[in-house]
Amino acid sequence: LKYSEEIAKRKKLYNQIQEAKGNIRVFCRCRPLSKQEVSTGYSAVVDFDAAKDGEIGIMNGVTKKSFKFDRVYTPKDNQADVYADASPLVTSVLDGYNVCIFAYGQTGTGKTFTMEGTEQNRGVNYRTLKELFKIAEERNETYSYNISVSVLEVYNEQIRDLLATSPSTKKLEVRQAAEGFHHVPGIVEAKVENIKEAWDVLQAGSNARSVGSNNVNEHSSRSHCMLCIMVRAKNLMDGVCTKSKLWLVDLAGSERLTKTDVQGERLKEAQNINRSLSALGDVISALATKNNHIPYRNSKLTHLLQDSLGGDSKALMFVQISPSENDLGETVSSLNFASRVRGVELGLAKKQV
Ligand code: ADP
Repeated sequence: LKYSEEIAKRKKLYNQIQEAKGNIRVFCRCRPLSKQEVSTGYSAVVDFDAAKDGEIGIMNGVTKKSFKFDRVYTPKDNQADVYADASPLVTSVLDGYNVCIFAYGQTGTGKTFTMEGTEQNRGVNYRTLKELFKIAEERNETYSYNISVSVLEVYNEQIRDLLATSPSTKKLEVRQAAEGFHHVPGIVEAKVENIKEAWDVLQAGSNARSVGSNNVNEHSSRSHCMLCIMVRAKNLMDGVCTKSKLWLVDLAGSERLTKTDVQGERLKEAQNINRSLSALGDVISALATKNNHIPYRNSKLTHLLQDSLGGDSKALMFVQISPSENDLGETVSSLNFASRVRGVELGLAKKQV
């Protein structure tokens, strides 16, 4: 009873905050031109003049199309700058909220760079986990936390447990537990005590991703990589327990079908990616327009994320783009998707010359 009272209290408070704020924030990140793009002679088509105000312009000849987001990162912004804006969500998870952070965009635009990063240049995943353990430690006189991680991949509308030691014989499905919590029965939840343990588990999951695929890069660009951090908290003062989860998701590449993809396995993959990404867009826009029916069940991706999208959860989307003229079509398409998610779109404007 205490638990449900506590949740009801939080929901009420949070709904009041939401009235003013909206619970899905969209940040746009543009990578630098690659060496290859520079040597080919491609130029950048992105205008960052109003980036400080969350506005980004895409030049197509003399026409500029502008998009507005909660934040725009230029290629000069580093991993710490990007994480600084995501970090308040870590406190939310430890306070009992469900959170989802995901990266969307065309392959090669920096989704993995933003989420995973490199050893010298850690991304959102590592920084988030590090802070999670740090705050949990700081609160250890008031709360006892139990943290576990799962690593899943969704490929062709099938869920794969990347921490499973042997391949599952049963098809993994999303189920709703008695208290309304969605989970995947049978997946590994590895209990972790500190950042090192957590990171080792995530690395193991990451390595398992490539097993059985001919081309590692292609496989990862066509599947959604999903880390789930489960936080069970007990308030040591009043005994109230909460359970919350944090999803960290590196989505499959959002690029559209090309002429060479019109048949076979690649067509099926592309259709499944389109289906799940548009299901994600549908869910978010249904939430934004306060629609009564939220179509979570239209894809494995949205079904898995159900508890962390909508209700009193908090979501953050990174829309990743390339600055190159060569990627203009995909860039505009990604920004349109992200605008739909945010529910705001600015019109066309002539460039001031
Ligand atoms: P994706 O996951 O979207 O396919 P990657 O994360 O693999 O893209 O990024 C593609 C390449 O661009 C990688 O070599 C990556 O290191 C580089 N890159 C991406 N974003 C940035 C950035 N903000 N700064 C520097 N390099 C970046």
